[in-house]
Amino acid sequence: MSADLRPETILAQAGGATDPETGAIVPPIHISSTYLRDPDNQYRKGFAYGRADNATVRQTEAVLASLEGAAGCLLFSSGMAAATSLFLAVPRPAHVVAPQVMYWGLRHWLLHDAPSHGLSVTLVDASNLDEIAAAVRPGETKLIWIETPANPLWNITDIKGTAEIAHAAGALLAVDSTVATPILSRPLAEGADVVMHSATKYLNGHSDVIAGALAFAAKDALYERAAGIRSHHGAILGPMEASLLMRGLRTLHLRVRSQSAAAMTIARHIAKHPQIEEVLYPGLETHPGHDVAARQMRGGFGGMLSIRVKGGEAAAIATAANVSVWKRATSLGGVESLIEHRASIEGEGTPCPPDLLRLSVGIEAVEDLIADLERALAAAVNQ
Ligand SMILES: *Cc1c(COP(=O)(O)O)cnc(C)c1O
Repeated sequence: MSADLRPETILAQAGGATDPETGAIVPPIHISSTYLRDPDNQYRKGFAYGRADNATVRQTEAVLASLEGAAGCLLFSSGMAAATSLFLAVPRPAHVVAPQVMYWGLRHWLLHDAPSHGLSVTLVDASNLDEIAAAVRPGETKLIWIETPANPLWNITDIKGTAEIAHAAGALLAVDSTVATPILSRPLAEGADVVMHSATKYLNGHSDVIAGALAFAAKDALYERAAGIRSHHGAILGPMEASLLMRGLRTLHLRVRSQSAAAMTIARHIAKHPQIEEVLYPGLETHPGHDVAARQMRGGFGGMLSIRVKGGEAAAIATAANVSVWKRATSLGGVESLIEHRASIEGEGTPCPPDLLRLSVGIEAVEDLIADLERALAAAVNQ
């Protein structure tokens, strides 16, 4: 499709790919693990073996690359596979800087596994550019990793400011943009070098695929090393999953805009509730990252918020116990709304307060979601 089309058009038509042989509007799923060699032993069609590459995966990658304004995109078997492959693609030994508040599984990997791979890690308050700058060691720091908005407090990091700090020190900037999605944020346009997504979340949107993505500003040596790791570690996304992901992507813009608007309505409404200690949502003027978020996000602040319930951990768990429309489950970004007591998932060392419930807003009627939450808060008091 032509490069000047808007994201909505690219998404609805899945990049415009149709099947040249049959005219099928939905492209076929390429499930072959192996490919015919030409009689002279070449692979001129560009495919040799399914662990390295796949045509269905490539189609979905092309759509994501055009959404992010990327030179190249790689799909992985999970968000964690995408993130860890990027860290392992950095020439080591290396020092990396990452946030204290971030997706807990990756923080755990950085603290416990990354050192044995030659990565030394400094965690900082990434909502503060001065702290990021102070942690960077010129010549030694090879990568700054940020997540914005960041799980589960929805801290905001200034992407442009962090890119300047990284580049001045000869380091790269990678952004976990899972929660912002390419609909609300374009980190590469703000100066980032790589964007990572857990495609399990908003990109797929239907809670039925585990997938991850890296989108690169340049198809350079880093991209090639990440592609090599994906092939050698066997971390490519399967073609069935790539096809499901493409089906989900067709409605990404509709879902994310609806979920963002509903999250804003819920945040404003529930902030006034007498049993709520605090609402954490970057769309609220009271959120410390609101101004930066308003500058670097377009069309909404995302579908994720957290609430802190008066009465501590027991009151929060009792509230989650009494919902019926919201579903008690981990993960986020699906069409169904989820609620979760985060501290009990994240365990020791979490920056998450014990009275916090994380809400992933789906596409149900917002009135039903608010009424269910109010019913659960009332029932929790009476327990
Ligand atoms: C879920 C998630 C991940 C990990 O992705 P998986 O697909 O579960 O491996 C990374 N970052 C963020 C922000 C996430 O929400």
